[in-house]
Amino acid sequence: MHIETAAVSSGRPPAQPDQPLNVPPTFASTYTAGGALEYGRFGNPTWSAFEEALGALEGGDCRVFASGLAAIAAVLDQVPVGGTVVALAHCYLGTQTQLAHAEERGAFHHVLVDALDVPALHSAVRTADMVIIESPTNPALEVVDIAAVVEVARSVGVVVVVDNTFATPILQRPLELGADIVVHSATKFISGHSDVVMGAALTRDADRLAALTTFRSIQGATPGPMEVFLALRGLRTLALRVERAQANAGELVRLLTGHPGLIEVRYPGFGAIISVVLPDADAADAFVAGVRLCRHATSLGGVETTLERRRRWSGEVKTIPEGLVRMSIGIEHVDDIAADILQALG
Ligand SMILES: *Cc1c(COP(=O)(O)O)cnc(C)c1O
Repeated sequence: MHIETAAVSSGRPPAQPDQPLNVPPTFASTYTAGGALEYGRFGNPTWSAFEEALGALEGGDCRVFASGLAAIAAVLDQVPVGGTVVALAHCYLGTQTQLAHAEERGAFHHVLVDALDVPALHSAVRTADMVIIESPTNPALEVVDIAAVVEVARSVGVVVVVDNTFATPILQRPLELGADIVVHSATKFISGHSDVVMGAALTRDADRLAALTTFRSIQGATPGPMEVFLALRGLRTLALRVERAQANAGELVRLLTGHPGLIEVRYPGFGAIISVVLPDADAADAFVAGVRLCRHATSLGGVETTLERRRRWSGEVKTIPEGLVRMSIGIEHVDDIAADILQALG
């Protein structure tokens, strides 16, 4: 089955008379005793429907979480005490914060490596317990050869985790490339409408899946049924949205490359995220304040075009330029996005 079809057809009730086409949101804190669910922190039919659907897209078994960072916390819980995690210097800020907290409380160590320094990355992986890759990175948009990291990691038994939030399974399926675990902020492209905070983790390994499930149950990192219902509704159109947003992004990159107001246009060649670099913070702030159709907002992956100067966050990594504006391109008509961006740059 093609992935576009799986996005539409997976996670549905059986095709039987009077079955609804969609699994409804099940609002239940508890279930009549004696079954597989028992209590609302352990399981929910709406979660199962979403897990079946995203699992079909990524090619693994899925567990939903309360947020992307809850999913990442569940994954990091699999690092042995005193172990080492390798992450990218430009990985998601929340991931870096979790790694720093784990280090502070003596749980495990972490090493940050430049995504583009392939020899350094591969040699760091050789001495780690787990490596977390984001590709493309947020917001530097560096790309990592996942299969190459998997090859190095496999030879020394290191767990490979890929945060696939930016690429989505439409454009990149890390489990097929040999990764052990995939994590998502379903808040972004998967749900796609800027109305849900949710996460997911996926694996093909039964023991790792069991550990994710246990973490969710005992730490209570559970999403509400309405969030999961909305995320599954959003996932139905993931392929269409990614296709259109990516086409828009490609056209905007062509249009913006060489624009006199921009020092750099960064685009990895796929996906819907573009980072543009303006001369300084003031120029970037004026740009994001000047848009009318697009919205100045953090987060990304919605149907609407949003943009943000990342260094407005004091915690953002200092090697991200002050004038860098990350743009999440939506599915509006590209001419309208282009006109707005050009007037704001002007
Ligand atoms: C947003 C994001 C996260 C965190 O997800 P939340 O749903 O906000 O907790 C993790 N990784 C990446 C790449 C993200 O963009």
